Parts: sequence; structure tokens; C-alpha cells
Amino acid sequence: MVKAVRMHEAGGPEVLHYEDVALPDPGPGEALVRHEAIGLNYIDVYHRTGLYPVPSLPWTIGMEGAGVVEAVGDGVTEVSAGMRVAYASPPPPGGYSEARVMPAGSLVELPADISSEQGAAMMLQGMTVEYLIRRTHPVKAGETVLVHAAAGGVGLIQCQWLKHLGVTVIGTVGSEEKAALASAHGCDHPVNYRTEDFAARVMEITDGRGVPVVYDSIGADTLEGSLNSLARLGTLASFGNASGPITDFNLARLAPKSAYITRPTLFGYNATRPELEESAGALFDVVRSGAVKIEIHQTYPLSDAAQAHRDLEGRKTTGSTILTP
Ligand code: NDP
Repeated sequence: MVKAVRMHEAGGPEVLHYEDVALPDPGPGEALVRHEAIGLNYIDVYHRTGLYPVPSLPWTIGMEGAGVVEAVGDGVTEVSAGMRVAYASPPPPGGYSEARVMPAGSLVELPADISSEQGAAMMLQGMTVEYLIRRTHPVKAGETVLVHAAAGGVGLIQCQWLKHLGVTVIGTVGSEEKAALASAHGCDHPVNYRTEDFAARVMEITDGRGVPVVYDSIGADTLEGSLNSLARLGTLASFGNASGPITDFNLARLAPKSAYITRPTLFGYNATRPELEESAGALFDVVRSGAVKIEIHQTYPLSDAAQAHRDLEGRKTTGSTILTP
């Protein structure tokens, strides 16, 4: 048995229970990982609320972690017992646990100079930034782009990585403290979208041209402003729903700018082993170079996952958050 955090029904943070669960032996293609740290991500909230359904109940949520491989099943070639690894694995979730059995093909070896805490804090958010800025809309030096929630987990990594690539970053944030934080991480123009019209600011900053891409993880609340921020032929990368999902969208809204809209996911972009290795490798390189620092601003015991959810949804967290088993 191991301790894990399971949801017994969809709902608020109170549906998360810290309890004993069975730990099976790894089957063919699987590995048993003992976690040293677990990543907290907004997708965990979507699983908990039922926006993204889990396969059955009760279910252990969590998509990201780092630790040591204790055993592997038949046919596993990617990792071996004793190896320190990290992952952001495709659904179904199962990460909020002291140890878990999972597909070995989702694991990558952690370089010796990246701690397990950093690994758990960066795999999901960092590989998301990797695909967004290198594959969804490959940025070019000299471009100006718009990033929402710039002081969040994805946001702080994205600001630093974009800056490193010579891109000018306009970043929305929910408070003046968050504006200062985003600014310290490479955001050239922080905009408090609770007090300012961010699309108007984008047009001011870009002399009326708009931006070639908006990376939008907020969803419902920002859709209108994000479309208004785009340049002609611009791309709206709508990759999250922190304020609620976009449930109906009239394609005619793209017509005035001949704009593009896409709804990308990490697991769609890193669906094959070569894609995963390339994505993780690029992230490790940029972190080891010092250009992107992984900021763990909150650490909670695994048993306190419900409080971590309250703080994440309450917009109280900044940077990355980990849970410790
Ligand atoms: P964050 O640390 O960015 O936390 C979410 C932030 O969203 C809050 O801190 C808050 O920042 C902002 N926000 C704006 N409106 C709301 C609202 N109504 N309720 C709550 N928060 C709000 O989380 P993550 O870094 O884990 O994830 C960021 C986003 O990226 C999420 O939407 C997530 O689903 C998405 N994502 C998508 C992936 C994909 O591949 N499609 C992969 C990874 C993440 P502020 O106060 O500054 O507004």
C-alpha cells in the first residue's frame, strides 16, 4: 500500500482524500516510480471538477512527477531500476501518490544537475512552453507576442524562454505584485488585465499592428480581447480554460483578420517517443544553460493537496508548485 490523493466524486477541493491505495507490480511496458516530488498543474483542477473526466471513481489525479524507478516490467527499454526520472504523462492521471505504476514510455531520465523537485515542477509546464513557442507558432527574434497569466507556472517559464529567443513579451497578470514578478522574468510589458483593457494596450505597444500570436490559457474571459490583439494573419493558440471553457465559437470571428485559431495540447504534440525526447531535451538544455530558471514558489505536503488546489484556483500562487510525498 502507498498513500495517494484520490477524488471520490467530481467537485471542489474537498473531494480530494489522502488515503491508502494498492500498488501493483509493473506489467509489460510499465515502470514503478517512487516519487520524490509531484507537480501541481491547472489540469489537475479540470480533472477534479469533472471538466476533463477521469476514467472511473475513485481516481488518483496528477499528471507530473519525478523520482526513482524501483522496478520495471517485461519489455521496458526506456528506463531501468535505480534511474532518476521525471514525467508529464498523458491521461489517465495518477501522480498524486507516494509511488505509482505507469507506462515506462512516458518517463525520461533526469540529468544529474536537475533536482527531482525541479523535474516535478517543470516537465508539464516547461514542455508546454517548448511546443507552444517552437512548434505551434515558432517565434522569431524581434517579434512581439502576448502571453496570458504571465506570472503563473507556464507563464514565468514562457517569459524567460521567449526573452532568451529575442522576443518582446507582453504579459497579462492579475495584480501589481504579479506584474513585478513577470517583469523580473523577462516580460517587457506587464499588463494588469483586471484593471486595464489588454487588447488596447497591445495595440498601443505594437503601433496598431497587433501581435502575430496570442498564447491564451485563460479561455472564456480573454477570448474577445485575444482576438482583438491579433495582427492580420495572426494565430490564437487557445491552450487552457482557467476562467472557463470556450463552448461555442463562430468561425466568422476570424474573418476580419484572416486569423488562425488552434486548440493545442502537450499530449497531442508529444505523442511519440522521439517527440517527447526532443521536447524534454530542449527544456533540459535551456534550464541547464541558466536562461530559464524553474521557480518553485509553493511547496505543500501531498496530504495537503486540497489546500494547494484552493490556492491555485484562488489565483494565489505564482510560478510552479510541487507536492512532496
Ligand atoms: P497557473 O500557474 O498559470 O495558474 C492559473 C492562472 O490563471 C492564475 O494564477 C491566474 O493568474 C490566471 N487566471 C485568470 N483567470 C482565472 C480564473 N478565473 N480562475 C483562476 N485563475 C485565473 O497554472 P498553470 O501554469 O498550471 O497552467 C496555466 C494554464 O495553461 C492553465 O489554463 C492550463 O490548463 C494550461 N495548460 C495547458 C496545456 C496544454 O497543453 N494545453 C498544458 C499545460 C497547461 P492571474 O491572477 O495573473 O490572472
